[in-house]
Amino acid sequence: MALTSRSQPRRPMTDINTFEGRPEKQARWDGRYIGLAHYIAQWSKDPRAKVGAVLVNQRFARVVATGFNGFPSNVEDSAERLENKARKLQMILHAEQNALLHAGRDARDCDAYVVGKPVCNVCATLLIQSGVRRVVAAAPRPGTESYWDRVGLLAIEMLREANVEFIPITGQQLDAIGLNRDDARASENPLSPYEGLQDELDLGY
Ligand SMILES: [Zn+2]
Repeated sequence: MALTSRSQPRRPMTDINTFEGRPEKQARWDGRYIGLAHYIAQWSKDPRAKVGAVLVNQRFARVVATGFNGFPSNVEDSAERLENKARKLQMILHAEQNALLHAGRDARDCDAYVVGKPVCNVCATLLIQSGVRRVVAAAPRPGTESYWDRVGLLAIEMLREANVEFIPITGQQLDAIGLNRDDARASENPLSPYEGLQDELDLGY
């Protein structure tokens, strides 16, 4: 029996879980990890926004770390603090930040899945600097006044410039996990607690 009977050369073992040339397989696994990020988002105690992030090393199909938005460990996430929007935003870690901190150096070459909000500008800088190679998340909407959309667009600008692939979550993928498309992109405006204080904000930030 000839050993050359395979029509396709055998892939090296290290490539077994990469999706090169297999977009359907990639879409299937993207959907699974989006679902996982959505599940993890529900662990957040934030009453207004529940965001989940999953870092995956695709080469080994390994979930490297997960994260959801919340206060640092041992900092009390009391209802009083969580309900005070301005205070909360000064204390909370984003889901992506928690996942990156948990992953440490293992974040390098991972794909990041984020569900619940668009990736913000700060998280984009951290994802880039951690060596993440691909980000799957809600697409911010251009042309809105929403804070999350505006910083989300800046985030994508930076990701693209840094050659980090950005893949927007599709409506179909959101439907598959029972997530309303608008809810998935719903955003609170972190600047609204500071209405009337814009001058100070502009000076200090
Ligand atoms: Zn963020």
